[in-house]
Amino acid sequence: MNTRVRFAPSPTGSLHLGSVRTAIFNYLFSKQTNGSLILRIEDTDKGRSTSHSQEEILSSLKWLGIQWNEGPYLQSERIEIYQNYANILLSEGKAYKCFSSQEEINRIKEQAKKEKKIYKYPRIWRDRKDHPQNKDFVIRFKTPDNKIIDFKDTLRGKIEIESNNLDDFIIIKSDGFPTYNFASAIDDIEMKITNVIRGEDHLSNTPKQILIYNSLNAKIPDFTHVSMILGKDKTKLSKRHGAESIDNFKSMGFLPVSIINYLARLGWSFGDQEIFSLNEMEANFSLDNLNKSPAIFDLEKFTWVNSNQIKKADTNYLKELINFKFIEGIDIDLAILSAKEKSKDLIQLKEVLSFCETKELNIDDKSIESINDCDKKILEKFLNSFMDYNFKNMDEIEDFFKNFLLNNNLKMKNLAFPLRLILTGSKNSPGIYQILKILSKELISYRVKRFL
Ligand code: GLU
Repeated sequence: MNTRVRFAPSPTGSLHLGSVRTAIFNYLFSKQTNGSLILRIEDTDKGRSTSHSQEEILSSLKWLGIQWNEGPYLQSERIEIYQNYANILLSEGKAYKCFSSQEEINRIKEQAKKEKKIYKYPRIWRDRKDHPQNKDFVIRFKTPDNKIIDFKDTLRGKIEIESNNLDDFIIIKSDGFPTYNFASAIDDIEMKITNVIRGEDHLSNTPKQILIYNSLNAKIPDFTHVSMILGKDKTKLSKRHGAESIDNFKSMGFLPVSIINYLARLGWSFGDQEIFSLNEMEANFSLDNLNKSPAIFDLEKFTWVNSNQIKKADTNYLKELINFKFIEGIDIDLAILSAKEKSKDLIQLKEVLSFCETKELNIDDKSIESINDCDKKILEKFLNSFMDYNFKNMDEIEDFFKNFLLNNNLKMKNLAFPLRLILTGSKNSPGIYQILKILSKELISYRVKRFL
């Protein structure tokens, strides 16, 4: 049977790194097993769900290149489905209408707190038939007594919970909307999900969902509860740890593949390999290689992965991404090829390339003053002989440059330093031979002459 997995975000904010990693694991698993990824928006919490957040989630997934095969399904558009299932459970006596008011529940909770007991709804309406008219009600699940609920988790093995620890939880709220546990279980049944891969924070929900599957005689999917991502100080990951939203990482110049690579590798291992192409991840991902201890987010390592991915990235792809305006007379491919060696992110890539953007460079006065008369004489001489040659490649430029130094009894820095400054205006630029090949002779002559 083909695998079917789902990513089921709640649109209550932007995608945080933990959720993105869950999406990535589901995506890679679906690819690796030739299965389908279903996107489901869990928007039944009317107070907290927003369409803005939903749009942001979709656009982040698209930008990352996480393609889904079905959906997005919106739970808010499937209310009737959940109500139908709730009615089946009601008619089979597996659920019941509960008319306890919120005030009554609050009082019971207060009392439990006073007595230092764990609150459990005391089943007031479980067996009553004297239902009032025109009164709000919720639908509760009839949790069976003295049952062991067990399930197997890929990473944690067999997990057993006593049903007596659970109360008669709500499946349909008084506004007719389902609760998360009910909608999620029903959708997993309806959507024929074979594998549920989600955060460890949902581990406590799984027994309730198993009760729902069982009550409907539905097949239970395989569960994998993935460890949480923590900051270096072992606390819950937040902005404090540099864990920005995906949009922020995008504007910080991270590549989609770097994000997928770093997050996938957080908790998943494949030998000692750290840098993966998307194809390699899709081919080698396996749930068995997931680590069950918490993963630690490390911005430095993330940046390192990004700089490696930038070095590996195709030049044309980077050209498209940076959307950079090159002036005439630039060997664009070589410019990008050289700049990516010096860049840890796309912002830096653009900075390194800034000498290719305008004919006139902005060079600060102090740097200009550092070019003395002696430098100018050398520069003039260099330019004159440089302009006479027809270079076929960079090796010829290098030979020419070295010979010039030798013949004029100069050290590398005597010429390379001022030349680099007036040709690029920056210290963080490609090597001098590359610069001399990237810029046309006309541009080189123009820039040098301005300083003579
Ligand atoms: N909507 C849940 C969340 O955003 C996901 C639940 C699940 O994967 O079962 O955490």
